[in-house]
Amino acid sequence: MDKRDYYEVLGVSKGATKDEIKKAYRKLSKMYHPDINKEPDADVKFKEVKEAYEVLSDDQKKAHYDQFGHTDPNQGFGGGGFEGFGGFEDIFSSFFGGGGGSRRRDPNAPRQGADLQYTMTLSFEDAVFGKETEIEIPREETCETCNGSGAKSGTKPETCNQCHGSGQLNVEQNTPFGKIVNRRVCHNCNGTGKQIKHKCSTCSGAGKVKKRKKIQVKIPAGIDDGQQLRVSAQGEPGINGGPSGDLYVVFHVRSHEFFERDGDDVYCEMPITFVQAALGDEVEVPTLYGKVKLKVPAGTQTGTKFRLKEKGIPNVRGYGKGDQHIIVRIITPTKLSEKQRQLLHDFAEVSGQVPQGEQEESFFAKVKRAFKGD
Ligand SMILES: [Zn+2]
Ligand SMILES: [Zn+2]
Repeated sequence: MDKRDYYEVLGVSKGATKDEIKKAYRKLSKMYHPDINKEPDADVKFKEVKEAYEVLSDDQKKAHYDQFGHTDPNQGFGGGGFEGFGGFEDIFSSFFGGGGGSRRRDPNAPRQGADLQYTMTLSFEDAVFGKETEIEIPREETCETCNGSGAKSGTKPETCNQCHGSGQLNVEQNTPFGKIVNRRVCHNCNGTGKQIKHKCSTCSGAGKVKKRKKIQVKIPAGIDDGQQLRVSAQGEPGINGGPSGDLYVVFHVRSHEFFERDGDDVYCEMPITFVQAALGDEVEVPTLYGKVKLKVPAGTQTGTKFRLKEKGIPNVRGYGKGDQHIIVRIITPTKLSEKQRQLLHDFAEVSGQVPQGEQEESFFAKVKRAFKGD
């Protein structure tokens, strides 16, 4: 998934009001309307804007998007979908640049911070029931000593004397076709447009420091292996006052001793004796919600499935609960006492079944004969 963030598409902040979202949509849909805009990709942009608006203007869809990011509603959660740099930069280029090759980029423009990814391993039960937990992530924070400027206290970053603050330099080149002007990132300030004479000693001029930050994460009940949760604005801080990136928590769910998961349903095997299977019985079966009694009817075969309705996993989107499926496995006894052996013998005789070994002609001999055509 390399879809752009919906907020980014509309050029609004995460905290934008409905009105602001609507306004942004109106403006952009007009700008990219295929009847008006004849740029080759206007059509794609128009669709993108429309899709973003459809989600962000709908309270429920928006809430879901804020929590989980881009997901395919038909297919559970996306596994990947990691977008790296969010892009105020992208917005600026699509708004003002007109898609040209040498667009001007304001180095002082606000840019969104980078997204972060964190992998969390959960027990089977925690994934089923959800929980609130605290995680600690290393991330960059604005340096408090210099308030992010990177300059020593009492001093200020100065405008770069090479590029005069634009972050870019024009490089003129004479060619047989005339003079060509190329725009390059300023080497003196690395495109920031500023130079720091006296660097802040805490952050060495970076304006940012690495810190371990504790974040409260609410894991929704029913989350599955490989799914991810978006924690809005808990990524790295924005640049030049831009919004923070997002934190994506990717879940790895451990397997269970006897439950196996398939979507919202759980499966388990239940061993019963052949006497229970033949005579019927009431047995206790474990479920995620405690033990329940299950009636095994007389004459149950191995492989028979029973379904316990709504004893499965809560749907992560809140659409009810799955079922539990129990598959019967009949255990054949391995160590028989003399008495048991005798009883089984008697049982076979009464049933008109003579054990093969005692038959005059073995089953295999019969088969052989059949093949030979005797
Ligand atoms: Zn600093
Ligand atoms: Zn410069």
